[in-house]
Amino acid sequence: MNTICAISTPAAAAGAISLIRMSGEDAVSIADGVFSAFSAKRVSDMKGHTCAYGRIIDGGKTVDDVLLTVFRAPKSYTGEDTVEISCHGGSYVTRRILGLLVKNGAVPAAPGEFTKRAVLNGKLTLTQAEAVMDIISSEGERALISANNMREGAVFKRITEVREKLVAMLGSLAAWVDYPDDDIPSVDEQSIRLTLCDCIDRLSALIKSFDDGIVFREGVLTAIVGLPNVGKSSVMNMLLGFDRSIVTDIEGTTRDVVEESARLGDIVLHLCDTAGLRETNDAVESIGVSLSKKTLSSARLVLAVFDISRELFDSDKELLYSLSPKNTVIILNKSDLGQKLDTESFKGFLTVVCSAKERTGTDELKSAVEKLLCTDGFSSQETVFASERQKSCASRACVSLKAALDALNNGETLDAVTAAADGALSPLLELTGEKASEAVLNEVFSRFCVGK
Ligand code: GDP
Repeated sequence: MNTICAISTPAAAAGAISLIRMSGEDAVSIADGVFSAFSAKRVSDMKGHTCAYGRIIDGGKTVDDVLLTVFRAPKSYTGEDTVEISCHGGSYVTRRILGLLVKNGAVPAAPGEFTKRAVLNGKLTLTQAEAVMDIISSEGERALISANNMREGAVFKRITEVREKLVAMLGSLAAWVDYPDDDIPSVDEQSIRLTLCDCIDRLSALIKSFDDGIVFREGVLTAIVGLPNVGKSSVMNMLLGFDRSIVTDIEGTTRDVVEESARLGDIVLHLCDTAGLRETNDAVESIGVSLSKKTLSSARLVLAVFDISRELFDSDKELLYSLSPKNTVIILNKSDLGQKLDTESFKGFLTVVCSAKERTGTDELKSAVEKLLCTDGFSSQETVFASERQKSCASRACVSLKAALDALNNGETLDAVTAAADGALSPLLELTGEKASEAVLNEVFSRFCVGK
């Protein structure tokens, strides 16, 4: 395999340090050609996991003073000889060194190629590799804990357990199907049924925790709705912790759907502050209003703001009737002005009293949102898939197992049961990467950044 190289730190105009990574058979010899250690030691004489301070030289000219670390195969991330160069940050010097490595025989790495090699060399399973991706993109502590769990092999282990049960069951079925007349104990249908149910339950639990965890991984599309002037923009600013929307007391100042992300506890809310949901003749504002309605229908979470310091207007009531307690938290804002509102109207809804002006009520809002999204009982220790890909493999396996169970319950032949259950094996092997096609691998690694 050729020797690849890439800049592994984010592209930035200036930074203290950048890291360039090179992996492959020629990594050490290419490094020898461009690096001169102050100790005069050659890279090829360096042991694995050691580093040297020296210079990158191009045609006799110094490019940068760097620290170079050597990892020897197979004790490296990729399993190949790897050299990492920590140079001064800054895109010019970094690209200059990368260019020099390419000039000396390395080729630029494709996205995720280092991790792909780690998988191909057996250093990581595919599920662990996907966890690496999740760690990079984790936005909260829970997402990070889940990703780390998976990196430690939790998904692989759980899937392997299911697969082993299935293989043992298929083994006993095959023996019976192939040699029905021999002296093989007859197949115990009840134990086949139990095994199938157990495998289905295990996979279904994993699928469910993936669906529950999506809130932490991807955040929640959240619409903030309410009549003009109830304090939607102020609530949004309170959540964001800085002034994003223009707050005025002229009705209809928020004309477009403003999009921002805010963290509420461990959940990221993708907020859309919408123009007031009211009929209007103002052309620009009416575009905002129709956008609001669209956002309202697609939002997973609706924060509906009402002014607690006044009684409900008819249009407040109209808005209230259009909301569902299933995805709505009612925010009774302006509590600092005292209460005139009759909260009876909000029966059945989760309600939170707050004052955006005095920035009170966020803890209560956090609890209400967690309760609504059913994340309050979610355990970050739970094993969770890293991707839709993993979930879809598990779902396909489940479909086959359910077909096998149906066949068994309907009294079909054991041949038919075997064929259906057998169909579950290949998606499970694809899930763990033990039998993933080149196309699947490419798909997974195309989501990675270059240099990882
Ligand atoms: P929006 O039209 O619903 O987005 O409302 P804004 O956030 O623009 O707020 C309208 C007016 O109400 C502004 O003058 C805010 O300063 C004021 N306001 C918002 N929240 C509060 C609050 O909690 N208490 C008080 N006293 N005034 C508030």
